[in-house]
Amino acid sequence: MLDDRIINSKYQAERNLMNESFLVLSNLIFGSKNSEEKEKFVDFFNKHVKITFYNRTEETIRLLKNYYGVVYKDEEAGKINIELRGYEGLQANKLPVVKMTVLHELCHAFCDVFCLRNSYSVVKNGIEFKNNLGMVKQDYVETKKPVGYSMYGKFYNETMMDIITAIATKTKIEGGNLTVDDILSLNYRDWGCELDVYSPITSITRLTVAAFSNVASYKYQDIVNLGGSIFRGRVKKEGQKKAYLFNDFLYGIMCDPLHIDMVYDTYMGDGAFRDLSSFLDNIFKYQVSGISPRKEEIKLVMDKLQTFANLRVRDYYRKGIFTYEEFAELASKFNHIFRQMQTEYDAHFSKEEIDDITERAHKM
Ligand SMILES: [Zn+2]
Repeated sequence: MLDDRIINSKYQAERNLMNESFLVLSNLIFGSKNSEEKEKFVDFFNKHVKITFYNRTEETIRLLKNYYGVVYKDEEAGKINIELRGYEGLQANKLPVVKMTVLHELCHAFCDVFCLRNSYSVVKNGIEFKNNLGMVKQDYVETKKPVGYSMYGKFYNETMMDIITAIATKTKIEGGNLTVDDILSLNYRDWGCELDVYSPITSITRLTVAAFSNVASYKYQDIVNLGGSIFRGRVKKEGQKKAYLFNDFLYGIMCDPLHIDMVYDTYMGDGAFRDLSSFLDNIFKYQVSGISPRKEEIKLVMDKLQTFANLRVRDYYRKGIFTYEEFAELASKFNHIFRQMQTEYDAHFSKEEIDDITERAHKM
């Protein structure tokens, strides 16, 4: 349970909504069976987070007129602040939006708290990389000045919060009909969620999740049903000493964004994930201002993710981590989303382009 003192609200209904949402997310993120980790986390969360509900018309510096919610770090107080619209003055038809926003913003707060816990840094070529607010912060070591806009990872951070919200509300976890695997393989229009400005770019993120997956001969939903965590859980493959995360991207996006850099760069070269992520952040910025990504941009990202996925699964297969059946299953799940996206964004690949991507994977 959240400490009642961290929630500022006049209404019990808002406190209940917050506690219910926290419970759903912590079960999903830690696994329903993992009580010990959940208890440790809630203590940490209570120390670092402050939640305030506002009525329909109130405004703050961050919670602007048309916003339903926002999360930011109050540097002075050293707290992660969640500001939300509550029930007061709300039209009945906006109730689902409030619920979705609470989950989305709370999900941000989970990432932010994990980033505080995983506060290590990596120094490469005079630049220090650190987890910060669900993204990666990069500063020059010598001058302490930011590199570029300093933070990258906004595209993945925002779109993933929507995907997790869809998992939390539309699957069997909350009595819905879909499975976790459905959300990860279906287009956002088939989730049955309230749409927002990020929805049209969520497919890129679903393709990324598939590219980092180690879940082959079983389902994500099975892991959840058994009380495990698709974010933090690991699987030990036959004959291997090391246990592997179910999905390196799901783990990284929630708990340790720098981890994703490490896995991607292993196959795509030093700094490759930073480049991809910054490119996507730019797409995100335009999307929010009403300009959809061009199909050439979508194709470029799909090409890179396909190359990475090919290199990674082949390497795992060669090392005996995946059997041939698992290798084929992972490729087929990835290709399913890849084909969907060609139609969704009218971003079609010619046979020559596909051959070219395949060729690159064989060369390793
Ligand atoms: Zn957000």
